[in-house]
Formats: sequence, structure tokens, C-alpha cells
Amino acid sequence: MNYEKSHKLFERALSVIPGGVNSPVRACKSVGMEPVFIDHADGCMIFDSDGNSYIDYIGSWGPMILGHRHPSIIEAIESVLKRGTSFGAPTDLEIELAEMIINAVPSIEMVRMVNSGTEATMSAIRLARGITGRDTIVKFDGCYHGHADTLLVEAGSGVATLGIPGSPGVPESFVSHTLSLPYNDIDAFKKVMSEQSEKIACVIVEPVAGNMGLVPPVDGFLEALRELTEKSGSILIFDEVITGFRVAFGGAQSLYGISPDITCLGKIIGGGLPVGAYGGKNEIMSHMAPQGPVYQAGTLSGNPVAMAAGIAALLQLKEPGFYDSLEEKASRLAAGLEKAVKKAGKKAAINQVGSILGFFFTDKEVKNYEDAKTCDLEMFSAYYKGMRQKGIYIAPSQFEALFVSAAHETEQIDATIKAAEEILGEL
Ligand SMILES: *Cc1c(COP(=O)(O)O)cnc(C)c1O
Repeated sequence: MNYEKSHKLFERALSVIPGGVNSPVRACKSVGMEPVFIDHADGCMIFDSDGNSYIDYIGSWGPMILGHRHPSIIEAIESVLKRGTSFGAPTDLEIELAEMIINAVPSIEMVRMVNSGTEATMSAIRLARGITGRDTIVKFDGCYHGHADTLLVEAGSGVATLGIPGSPGVPESFVSHTLSLPYNDIDAFKKVMSEQSEKIACVIVEPVAGNMGLVPPVDGFLEALRELTEKSGSILIFDEVITGFRVAFGGAQSLYGISPDITCLGKIIGGGLPVGAYGGKNEIMSHMAPQGPVYQAGTLSGNPVAMAAGIAALLQLKEPGFYDSLEEKASRLAAGLEKAVKKAGKKAAINQVGSILGFFFTDKEVKNYEDAKTCDLEMFSAYYKGMRQKGIYIAPSQFEALFVSAAHETEQIDATIKAAEEILGEL
């Protein structure tokens, strides 16, 4: 494959944008390659500036569950443009998306729109602290909740890929109230709750972890979080920025039957435009300004173009059988990859929840961040390189998940498996 145009664009970008990218993992640094610059995308295919085409398993890091340029989303955006692009005032579209989210996710009775997942989690933490009057927050190693200061501790993919613990610029005092515990470790969590539960404002978790590859919760983990936070008057926050409308229409909470106090959403609910949201029961959300004292605001929040795209996306996802058919595609891919690994005599662990896959170059079962870190990163880099050259676009990091979209058909999935077989055989 020829990457001449991408290379030139990257050189240009490097002199005007830090690292040449607007989000670190895009730079492909950890796999020792340069990024391809994207020209356009359609369905499950993505095309770079040199005219190379790829089957896309990044899906803009999760939002593109319907594939790229879904006609109903494009149509909704085109139609709303006739009204304007931003008013900084309420519109009917915000209510419509809020109502759709509330109808889909039973634990949400009221929801506030923001512009990113980072804003959603950051605001949810403030709300939890505001309600409880407590400062300490509990998170889990390898879970990523956006890049807000207090949450940038043991934060999975992006930082793991770069090998930096947390980040310079975050004062120690800011994270001194953040406890990070091993994911899926019920005993470690119980211990912390028995020792200092009265200090804990909230526990924030990815109910299915999607930022250290893909790691499902073990039996009893989410139940323990629910039970002990309830007992101690702490707030349970599910960060469903990836899992919301991805693993089921009602998110991971509907899949596992656990009802959190606050849910954070993002990615899919914007239909490919920048949207985040956080919501919960009325008694919780009523603490937000202007109804209550906890402050949070946004110039572009509830943006009409983004709302229209989100509404169009959720309407599609509501179709009966959507998630079953999507999961079938992902299961076909998982089974095919597993076979390919065996055939090549390699060791890899594959995790799957719905249409999200984790593919780990390790002989361990991956249940937490420690397990994920046992992966052979050199082998992953070689695999990434080979797959990209064969036209398969996966995330350039061992610690990112694969996303299957409704636009992936058997033909593309089988082509992906075949490419993996060939590349694994050469490693
Ligand atoms: C992507 C992500 C975020 C951050 O969302 P942004 O829109 O990138 O700010 C937060 N939490 C989880 C679980 C995510 O995957």
C-alpha cells in the first residue's frame, strides 16, 4: 500500500498540531507507524487520502454502530441545517433525544446533554460530590473516564499505550481523593468500603470495561458495587459512554440488571457528532443548576445538529432484532479469529460482549488491567501492521477494543478472518 499522501499530510500536521493529531492514540506511535489520513468513509469501509480502502473496526472509537454515512443520519442532519446550526437556546430536539434516552434506560429519569464523554463523567463526579458532601472517588485500574484531572489515574488505553502513569499537569492534591482499585476484584472493593465508606462520594466504573481491550465484569462484581454503595450512601456512576446503546438498547445496566444512580453516555448518542450526557433519577438530577446548586454549563450543549443526528441513530437502534443481528456478526468474527489463532499456533485471549471484542496477545484469561498488561506488545504491533496492509483498520493499540457495526456483512467479516489467518501465520 502506498501512504505517500498520508505521509505528507502527517508532516504538515506535525508542525501545527501536537504530535500531528487531536487525540493521542490516533498517531499510531505505540505500533511504530504513521497514521493514515482519512478522506471519507461509507458503511463499514473507510478510505484514506491515498485511495487505500479498509474494513473499519474502529468506528470512530465506538459511535459508528450503524456504519458510516447511514442515510437516515445524513438526512436528519441535512434537514436540521435548514433551521440553523446553533442557537444557545432550548429546542424541541433536546427534549426528543432526552425522552428517547429516558425511555431506553430505566435508571434515567432526567438527563443533561453535554458535548463529550469527558464532560459527562466530570460533571457526574461533581454532582456526586455535591450531593454527598464527600470528596473521595473510587475508580478501577484500566477504566478510562475521559481526561478530567481527578480521573486520570490508571486510566487505560491512551495512557497505557504511551506508558505514562496519569499525566504531568495534574496536581497531586487533585488525585489525592481518587482511589483506583483492580477491576473485577470484589474483595479489594469490599475492603475499601469497610474501611472508609463514609468518605466515599461515588464509585465510577465502566460496567463492561472497553479501554483496556474489552473486559466483561465477573459475576457479582457489579452487584457488589451496587449493594455497598447503597449501604454507605455513596453514588454509583456507570460510565456507559462506550456501552450505552452498544451492548444493548438499554446499555450494560439492562444487560446485567443493575441500576446505577448516575449514568454517563456519549459516543453512540451523538450519531457521529460530538455529544455526551449524564442522567439519573429526578432526586439526583434536580441538584443540577438551575434547578439546584451544582453548577455545569455549555455554550454548544444540546446543539441542534448533534441532537438531530442522535435522534436519527437511536431510531434505527430501536428496530426489533437490531442487537441480535449485530451480535451474530461479532460472534462470527470472534469465532473466526479464535480459529485463526489456533491454526497459527499462537496464544491469544478473545473477549466479547455484544458487538465489542477484545483480542489480546496473551495466554492468560484477561479479567483486569494486570492481565491485559501481560500482552506481547511487539507481536501486536506486527499484527497491526500486517492487518493494515491487508486493508483491515483496527485500533493501533493492544489496549483498544474492536467495534463491529451493523454495516459489516459476512463478506467483510470473513475477509477479516482470512487476513488475520495469513498475518498470524507469518508472525
Ligand atoms: C470515550 C470514553 C470517554 C470519554 O469520552 P470523550 O467523548 O472522548 O471525552 C469516557 N468514558 C468512556 C468509558 C469512554 O470510552
